Order: sequence, then structure tokens, then C-alpha cells
Amino acid sequence: MIFVGLDIGGTNIKAALVEIQSATEQSPDFSTVSILEKITVPTRASGGPASVTAQIHNAIEEMLHSAPNRVHAVGIGVPGSVDHERGIVLYPPNLPGWKDVALARILSAKWELPFYLDNDANCAAVGEALFGAGRGCSNFITLTLGTGIGSGIILNGGIYRGARGYAGEFGHITIDPNGPRCNCGNNGCVEAYVGNSYMTARAKQAVKHHPDSVLYELLSNDNAGFTPEDIAEAAEAGDEFAREFLYTTGEILGIAVASAANLLDITDFVIGGGIAGAGEPLLDGILRSGRDRVLEVHRDALRVVAAGLGNDAGMSGAAASAAVEPFKTLR
Ligand SMILES: [Zn+2]
Repeated sequence: MIFVGLDIGGTNIKAALVEIQSATEQSPDFSTVSILEKITVPTRASGGPASVTAQIHNAIEEMLHSAPNRVHAVGIGVPGSVDHERGIVLYPPNLPGWKDVALARILSAKWELPFYLDNDANCAAVGEALFGAGRGCSNFITLTLGTGIGSGIILNGGIYRGARGYAGEFGHITIDPNGPRCNCGNNGCVEAYVGNSYMTARAKQAVKHHPDSVLYELLSNDNAGFTPEDIAEAAEAGDEFAREFLYTTGEILGIAVASAANLLDITDFVIGGGIAGAGEPLLDGILRSGRDRVLEVHRDALRVVAAGLGNDAGMSGAAASAAVEPFKTLR
């Protein structure tokens, strides 16, 4: 079956034609996912909903043109809260002017196709559950590290949405009441340490004592374009400062991971997003810090792994969410 998977971000809109294979058309036992074709366009976010919706229309049109009459449904991942049942984008913090936009209805007016909308972190969790690192696991949490810390909770084989759909705000777990101010207004949230801009600020401070690091010049120059991925790349190349910084960042995340494990009795964590590609120092930091803090009953069970879907996770996850929707369960 072929789906269109859309990943709507504040920076880019990504669309893909995604092939998902299953045993039979009536079965939710999906076996493989592959991207047949994809496009990325910079989001004209400042133009508000009308402008972005026009871009979404164009992206869908382009994908449908590549596979005429073969697309089954369209899945869309949106950053921020959505009314998943009614297909409404409630309030995406990185898309100015968007509030209660009935996106599924707007798109359905043009194309006779089912449209499924979900929070992008939930899409990523569904993608990991069906095709990635969460395969075969009925209870796990995905963390997507980026501007914010997205998280999707798979509980008893399905997405846990909470009473009103706002579950999974892992980034706003307080780890130090006297910590730095977070975007949400609270102090000491995990995101206020690990969100992209906060992480860059921490790295700038920390690198001052490490002139031997390959990141020293880059981080000392305020005008240099710098992203957390640069830290991941330096770590992969063996830079000691970068590796240590990522380990420490992992330790910070581990504090909240231990709390989540204690609260939900979930011990499997799947880590994706920008710096997750660096792998081991970050994942080791999370695991060590999580194990040090979690209740003893969970200690040996705690597992922290890299996401399996890589850079295309947003699109594959959105398509997977559309594929699984009619079955309302992941397994
Ligand atoms: Zn916060």
C-alpha cells in the first residue's frame, strides 16, 4: 500500500511517497516501510495558515502525481497539539497564526482521500513501533531531540494521549526547580538544558575550558552558524570535549528518564533527533544516569537505544500513522 507522509515543521515541510507492505490489506501486521520519493520545501511560516496550507496542497499534489490513483491515505505530522479525532491543528508554537485550523477538512475538500493528522512525536513513536527500534515492544517511550523535546508514549500497544490529548510533554519535566528558565515559563525543565538553543548556549560556556576541541573556534564565534549536529559530528570524529558534552547531556536526560520509568513502569526508551546520531556517548549518559536514579526493580530492565528510522522518521511515521489508523491498534 502506498501512502503520502507529510512532516510539517516550522523550518521545513517534508513530503514523501511511502510504501508500506503488510501481510494482507485487512491486516495491521505491517512488515516493511520504504520511501519511494521525497521532497523538502522551506516552510513559509510567516505567511500564516493560508500560505503554509497552500504549500501542503502543492506537496501532496506533487506526490499524487508520481503515483496516480495508487495512494491509500495521507498521514500528516504536526509540531504541537492536535485534535487527532477531528483532524484539527490546535496550537503549534512554531507556526505563527495557527490556532484551531481544521486541516484535515481543508485538504479533504480538494482530494477524495482519507487524511490523518497527529502530533509529530506520536507519529515518530508509531513509526518506531511498526518499523524501528520499538518493534515487538508494547511499552516504550520515544524522545525526539530538537528545538524542543518531543515524546511519544506507547502504552499497552497503543499511543497514550492522556485525558485531553496533551500527554507526552517529557521536555517539561522539572529536573531542578532552581534551574534555567524554560520557554514554557517554568524553571529547570529538561528542555531548558537539552532543547537546541539551550544546548548551544551550554556548549558555548563549556567549550571555553577546552581550546583543544575542534569546536572551540566555531563555538567562540558568535556569527558562525552552529547546530547541535555539529557537536554530534565532532563526537563521531573522536573529539573528547564533544563526547564528554554529549555524555553530560545524556545524564541530564537520564534524570527525567528515571522519573518516567518509575511513573509508568516503562523501561524502554528510543532516542531520535539531531544529536541522537552520535549514538554511544549520549545513550551511555542517559543509561548510566537513569540506572543510578530509577527504583531497583527497573534497574536491570532499563534500555536506551537509538531510533531506527533515521532522517526520514517524520515522513515514515506520518505514513505509518495513516496506515495503522483504521486498525486503532499497533499490533
Ligand atoms: Zn518547560
